[in-house]
Amino acid sequence: MPLYAYRCDEDGPVDVLRPMGAATPTVPCPSCGADAARMITAPRLGGADRDRVAAIDRAEASRTEPAVVSAPPPRPARPSPRLDPRTAALPRP
Ligand SMILES: [Zn+2]
Repeated sequence: MPLYAYRCDEDGPVDVLRPMGAATPTVPCPSCGADAARMITAPRLGGADRDRVAAIDRAEASRTEPAVVSAPPPRPARPSPRLDPRTAALPRP
């Protein structure tokens, strides 16, 4: 649920939680009851997960500026398989 910002002329900023798209141009101020006008604010993106934002940015950039590569990406390193301890007792060549 988004947080909408309003400003009362006497009491200052008022934040109101409303369903998406249900913001009204004014709300009654909780302190004095006067109409508080809605403010347009920047979206709060500072708290977003950086890895997620970077992935979204890469996906957006790949639409218009796809990366040119000359080889497939390297395979991820897989851990070596865990050997059965009984293999140590086997005769060596
Ligand atoms: Zn007020």
